Order: sequence, then structure tokens, then C-alpha cells
Amino acid sequence: MTIPAYKNPTLPVTERIEDLLLRMTLEEKAGQLNQWYNLGPDDYDQVRNGEIGSGLLANSSTAGNNRQERVFARGINEIQKIAVTESRLGIPLIFGRDVIHGYRTVAPIPLGMAAAWSPRLIRAVNTIAAKEARADGIHWGFSPMLDIARDPRWGRVAEGFGEDPFLAGKLAAAAVRGFQGNDQDAIPQQFPVDRIVACAKHFVGYGAAEGGRDYNSTEITPQTLHNIYLAPFKAAIESGCATVMSAFHDIGGIPLSAHRYLLAEVLKEQWRFGGFIVSDWGAVGELVNHGIAVDGGHAAQLACNAGVDVDMCTTMYLRNLPALVREGKVSEARLNDAVRRVLRIKFALGLFENPYADPNLSQTVHLLPESLATVRRLAADSMVLLKNSGVLPLRPDNLTLCLSGPLANQRQALFGCWTPDGLEEEVTTLKEAIKARLGSETWLHHCDLWDDAVKLARASDVLILALGESAGRSGEDNCTTTIDLPAGQEALVEAARRMEIPIVVVVFGGRPLNLTRVTDWADAVLFAWHPGITGGLGVVDVLFGDVNPSGRLPITFPRATGQIPLYYNHRPTGRPMPANDRRSSRYVDSLDTPLFPFGFGLSYTTFAYGNMRTSADSRIPEISVTIEVTNTGDRAGTTVAQCYLRDRVASVARPVRELKGFERVSLEAGETKTIVFKLGPKELSYLDDNGNEVLEPGRFQVWVGADSNAELGAEFEITPDGKWVGGD
Ligand code: BGC
Repeated sequence: MTIPAYKNPTLPVTERIEDLLLRMTLEEKAGQLNQWYNLGPDDYDQVRNGEIGSGLLANSSTAGNNRQERVFARGINEIQKIAVTESRLGIPLIFGRDVIHGYRTVAPIPLGMAAAWSPRLIRAVNTIAAKEARADGIHWGFSPMLDIARDPRWGRVAEGFGEDPFLAGKLAAAAVRGFQGNDQDAIPQQFPVDRIVACAKHFVGYGAAEGGRDYNSTEITPQTLHNIYLAPFKAAIESGCATVMSAFHDIGGIPLSAHRYLLAEVLKEQWRFGGFIVSDWGAVGELVNHGIAVDGGHAAQLACNAGVDVDMCTTMYLRNLPALVREGKVSEARLNDAVRRVLRIKFALGLFENPYADPNLSQTVHLLPESLATVRRLAADSMVLLKNSGVLPLRPDNLTLCLSGPLANQRQALFGCWTPDGLEEEVTTLKEAIKARLGSETWLHHCDLWDDAVKLARASDVLILALGESAGRSGEDNCTTTIDLPAGQEALVEAARRMEIPIVVVVFGGRPLNLTRVTDWADAVLFAWHPGITGGLGVVDVLFGDVNPSGRLPITFPRATGQIPLYYNHRPTGRPMPANDRRSSRYVDSLDTPLFPFGFGLSYTTFAYGNMRTSADSRIPEISVTIEVTNTGDRAGTTVAQCYLRDRVASVARPVRELKGFERVSLEAGETKTIVFKLGPKELSYLDDNGNEVLEPGRFQVWVGADSNAELGAEFEITPDGKWVGGD
């Protein structure tokens, strides 16, 4: 008996896909575009009928409820077997899951990851997460989340890489490569067997939700859309990201899951994205709530014609696409295009040849010591030292510490907002980590009750207060009207300060919090994000100086909620500072500046930036920005050199500064290194309202330094006849 061409692994994939398409009914095609959740025995018939193409989350019903002992792979294999051996064409299912910041080895939240400014470490933790997830039978992770966020009230700010499109773009590329294992800049023809497919989400502009309220509408101008919100997605696509998730919200009245211009024209045509687009959960059905579709059938028609290939959890595609094609409302060509895209990824994952997972693999892959060491390093490197009057690093000999505050011994607070596969009991709390570091309890007092803490603190040398918000207060649908610390926490610091012993405040959080008073009152402030299962250890690494802090803020910290949105790469106004001028753009009841600017973070040593030069090479359009960085302190440390640009005059007002390069520079005490940033046409141009690059001659300013307020600057020029001239 001859096997059908699509089952013949020796044939080219395109040939196999076409062969399969010819055999499929309209119903089976719609089935491939239907994704359903928690697939279990109740869904077996649908799978048999070819009505489901992918699963999400996992088969928890057969995996068992005890998460310690659960073996996802078993449940997944069970249902996969039905798809492969009992459905008419035997097309395997693809299983997706939210692998956002680690899998079993829970890493810091993405906003924390971003604070390490380390594409290398992000690639490493995503490689670990991919291996752990794939060992459980998961093929596809719903991240990286690339929503630029300028509003910390929005709970999902925790899930993204912050406010800057350049930083987010570099980290997006690293995250994608970590998941997919690809070095080439294209969707892999064949995914390694221990990696997963990435999904850039939520396309696009979700972070601009009005009022910082989740799922809310947005108003985004074409300039901001192309230059800010789309930029990290483009970087992900250019790195071979194989899937994209269309978002819930609307921009100016067009919901993203029906946004033909952005999905079909920008993403698929202009950027030549060859993977598939999945809607966010229920987003196709929600087109009715948005008021642009009369019913589910109409919603399916709008979404499919706009470019959404897979419908996550509404069954609108399954139920309506065959009829819509027969009625001519969706072309069969569009339907085939969507199915081809899905099949391409299934073939690239090797699912037709190897549909099953090894149920014993997870034990050998999950929570490996080297994985824990990597996420611990990332946790330590993500922490941002915001203030230090000299009390840090702690010198534990003969020092009695008192630890208090609501988050001192909390697991959930450190865990992070997306931990479906982590186990809370595997989190090391701050108290446990300090105890482990000190080796005995002699030097540590800990108490949850404040009155006792006061007594104990009086008998101690340093008071450590663990404050902030727990993980459950950030993430999806966890928005706040204020970024102030939760009730009572400031009062704690204020009371502590009267005791006149040094106070170190460790703040956990999924968003920038208002630390104006706390920074005033405390002797040291360390911002630790939600650092994951090794987070307590990471904090201790930094507090005791085993790791010299090098985290830098990937998002501006305002002084007060009322300043939001506050971001460093804003446009100049016609009425800029000085702030003491009447009629300038300012507040009368607050300073205009942030409490801590984008890119900010201290170290236990000090760095000096000097000898800046810009030079041009007459043969190529490129400016080299050269600078020397010196460690001027007495211990080794790492600074993040940041290069900012301003286009002085252009046809549209360009931001006062834009990040165009960064590099982590590690230096021994007294050591100097020379670093060079290269700025070419890509860095110097901006995008017009259609997304085309525009490079205009004129003067540019460039700064290099330790944060977005870097003062050391230089100028260069592109002359009207196109010559690039450095400032030397
Ligand atoms: C979220 C997505 C997530 C999806 C699947 C949605 O509610 O917005 O980020 O990937 O659920 O769990």
C-alpha cells in the first residue's frame, strides 16, 4: 500500500502540505483552525472528527490534580493518539501553553528580566523553559509578550519588557531564539526536538489601554504605532518568530482581531510573516461585544478575512467557516492560506513523524541545578539598586539583622504572575534565603508583627523591610488606580525611621511603584520585581555583595500616579523647561521629572564615562560613537552603557532621546574599557505613517552614559548631499 504524499517524510514540506490540503474537506480545514482548551476525554469525539487542530493549557483531567506528580505528556499523548490514529487524515494536534517566565524553573517576570539588559541571559532562560515545556509535551509557548507599556497601572506591564522599543526588540529576538533554538533570521524549517514555537503577543498596542485598565480601548497615532508599538514585534518576526497572537482591544474603533491593515497588510505582506496568527482567548467571539459583528458567524468572517488564522477558544471558525466559504464571504484561498500556515508549523515541529512526548523525560529535564543557577543569576542581575547611603552590601560578620515587612517570608509575592507550571512551595523566601546565607539564626531576628519587630530592631544593627505587592496584584486583569504602595507600608517605613537604625527596603513588584517617600526615609532601596523561585536567593546575593547589582530600570518610575504616562522618549513640546518658567509644560504641585529615570540603577562601585568621540567612515553610512568607561570604585562591577540619540530637526518632531545601543560592561576596580556603538541608517531613520523608513539629513545628538539622563554627549551630521560627518 502506498502512503499518501503528505505522510512521506522524504518529500518537500510544501508538496506534503499541498497534498494534504487537496484531501481536506472544508470542515476539516476549519477544524485545523480551531483551538480548544484543557482537552480531555470529553473532547475525544471532536478530535476524532477532525474538529480540533490544537490544544492549549493541557490535559489536566488525565494528568491528575497533584501537580507534583502530574505527567502532562501522558494526557497529551492520549489525545494525540486519537488525532493521529483515529481521525480521517491523522493530522497531529499542536499544544500551546503560557510559558511566560520560565516553566517549572520559574524565572523573574519579564519586566524583571528586562531590567538585566541581557539578551544572553534571556535566551538562556527561555532555552531552559523551552526544554522543560517540550519535555512535558508542549510544542508552543505564548510568549514573548511585546507590549510596550507606558502606564504602570496596567497590570500586564509585568509581562512585558517595559517602555522602550529598542530594548524590547533586542530582548524579543533573544527570547524567540531561546524558545525556537534558531540562529538564522527565519522561521525554522525544522524545530529542534527540545524546543518550542514562540508567539509574539499581543499584536499590537495593547499596552496603550486607556486609564491603564485591561482590555480597554486605545487611541494610537500612526507615528506612535509604527515607531513604538510595532517595533518589538518587527524585531521578533525578523528573528524568525513563528506565531503571533492578535490582541483583545481596539485601536480607534477597529479591534485588533479584525484589523485587516495591521494583520494582513503590515504583518503578513509588508513584513512577509510566514507563520500563523492566533487570536487571543475568545477575541474572535468578542468582536460582537466590540460592536462590529452582528453574531459569531459575522465575527468569524471579519477575523478570518483580516488575517487571524486560528481561533482561540470560541469555536466560531469551526462552526461558521465552511458556510462562509460556500457563501463566498470568505474565499477558499484565504481559508487554505490559514491552513497552510498552521500545517507548516506542525511539519516544522516534526509532529507528523514524532507526534508523542516521552512521559519520562520531564524528570530528567525539570529543575536541573544548572537551570536553577541560571534563573538565580538572572534574578540577581535584574535587581535594581535605587538608593544606597553605604549600608549595602551587608557585611554579615558581627552584624545582627532584623527582617520584617509583609513580604519577608512570602512565597507568592516572589513567584510572579504567570506560573501555571511552577510550584509555590519551591520558592525560597527572603527569610529562608537570609537564614541560609548566614548559616545560623544567631544574627537574624524575624517577625511578622510590627510591635515585636520594633523591639527586635532596637537590638539589631540593620533593619530589612520587605515591602511591595504580591504577584497576585499584577498581571492580566490586575490593574490599579494608583501606583502607591499597598496600604500601611509607607507608615511602616516612617515608623522604622524613628528608631534610627539603618533601614534597607527590598521592594517586590510587578510594576513601577511610587517610592518617593520610602526612598527619602530608607538608607537603601532595592527593587526586586517578582523574581521567581530563586528570587529570595537572588536578593541575598545582592544584599550581601556576592553579586554587585547591575540591574537598570526598563521603565520610568514616576513620583506620583498623576504623572502617568511618563516615559523618557517623549517628544519635545513647544514649551519645554526650565520648570520654573510660567507657561511651560509642567505641574504646579509636583516636579515634572521622574523619581528614577529609564535606564537607572546603582552599583556598589562607581563608573565614569569619558573621552567620547563620534567619527564617520567615508566609505559607509555609519557613525561610530566611541567612549571610555572606567570603574572608579574599589570593587569589580558591571555597568550598562547606554547610547541615546536625538534627531534635532526632522519633518515630524522626533523624541528628545531614543535608546539606540546598550552594552553590559564588566570592569575590575580601576579598569577602563573602550566601547564603540555603531549607528547606521536603521538607527538614524524613523518610520512614516505607512511604516516606511525615512532618513533625513541634518544634525544628530548622541549621548552615552549610565541612564537616560546621560550628560556626556556629542554631535554629528548627515549633510544635505548625504555625507556622514562625525564630530571629531
Ligand atoms: C491572555 C494571553 C494568554 C491566553 C492563553 C489570555 O487571557 O491574554 O496572554 O496567552 O489567555 O492563556
